[in-house]
Amino acid sequence: MKITTYILILLTTLLNTGCSPRNQLYQADPFYVFGTLVEISIWGLPESEARQAVNTIAQDFQVMHQTWHPWHPSPLTELNQAIATKQLWPVKDSSLLSLIEQAKFFSKLSEGLFNPAIGQLIELWGFHNDELPVGPPPAATKIAQLVALAPSMEDISIVGNQVSSHNPAVQLDFGAIAKGYAVDLAIHKLRQLGVQNAIVNAGGNLKAMGQKGDQPWRIGIRHPSGHGVLAAVTVSGEESVMTSGNYERYREYQGERYSHIIDPRNGKPVVGITSVTVLTCSGSLGDAASTALTVAGLPDWQRLAKQMMVKYVMLVDEAGTVYLTKDMEKRVQFLSPKEVHTVVSDTN
Ligand code: AMP
Ligand code: MG
Repeated sequence: MKITTYILILLTTLLNTGCSPRNQLYQADPFYVFGTLVEISIWGLPESEARQAVNTIAQDFQVMHQTWHPWHPSPLTELNQAIATKQLWPVKDSSLLSLIEQAKFFSKLSEGLFNPAIGQLIELWGFHNDELPVGPPPAATKIAQLVALAPSMEDISIVGNQVSSHNPAVQLDFGAIAKGYAVDLAIHKLRQLGVQNAIVNAGGNLKAMGQKGDQPWRIGIRHPSGHGVLAAVTVSGEESVMTSGNYERYREYQGERYSHIIDPRNGKPVVGITSVTVLTCSGSLGDAASTALTVAGLPDWQRLAKQMMVKYVMLVDEAGTVYLTKDMEKRVQFLSPKEVHTVVSDTN
């Protein structure tokens, strides 16, 4: 056999067995933004191109983190100051403007249960801090005062890039939608950079596109205890998996845990629900919906999911019971099915 023929056969064999650099999985070192680790996996690109694409996305994430930060000085805190002093404010950053527009829409769709205008309440509970809050919960009178001011996304007006609020009690905090929108933007940018198969995972809130070779991406959904994996789901096309969980951030005082997800109706942390996972095409919708359904809780999550046009939902309550929509039941595989008590909803 001629040496050139031998090299040709060797190369073809390598390509077909997936040993070629083009077919390998590139997993970048995680980086820290939005208070969590971001992990990016890319399939099917030479390593140097994949690395370059990840570097671009990492820079974008840093910019988003700085622009949307709710308590470190940022274009968002400037806007919040303007709102508090009843000024009209020009929002120069297009991603921030889009975030405000989307948040208005999703807030209305969720009947105000997803309400990023409650920044003052979130701060009162101590969550505008790089560390987890400690000590007793805030005074009931203070909570009631802020609830009575009724900050809502409907108070916000947008004309061109000029943003104002009829209600100076509005303080924007996009913690419940930022990761979803960030992974939307990241996947969009990756496509522009020629990447077709990738996962961008911001602390368990992720978006995937394409496949991993000839297999779909398989995603692990974290156990609500915060340890290990509860279930797996395979994603197809461009799809996001978003989870809101009590285990992410909380205040702990005298053995009681207070969730970072606040019910805007009473200003108090949500009780009874440990986590909600939703599968959607849009990351920002999924992120807003997973928070809203956590607030809706057991009595109302199914109705609100329908209203928010979210078909795939998995909710875990404090007792560890797992509630699923029928559509979601078809998608998830539990890793130890015998130990999981599931309830599938009658309607979707
Ligand atoms: P997530 O993990 O997506 O559910 O987002 C939780 C974060 O969103 C919290 O840390 C707060 O910054 C903010 N948040 C809390 N409660 C709400 C709510 N009801 N609506 C909108 N944002 C909220
Ligand atoms: Mg959310």
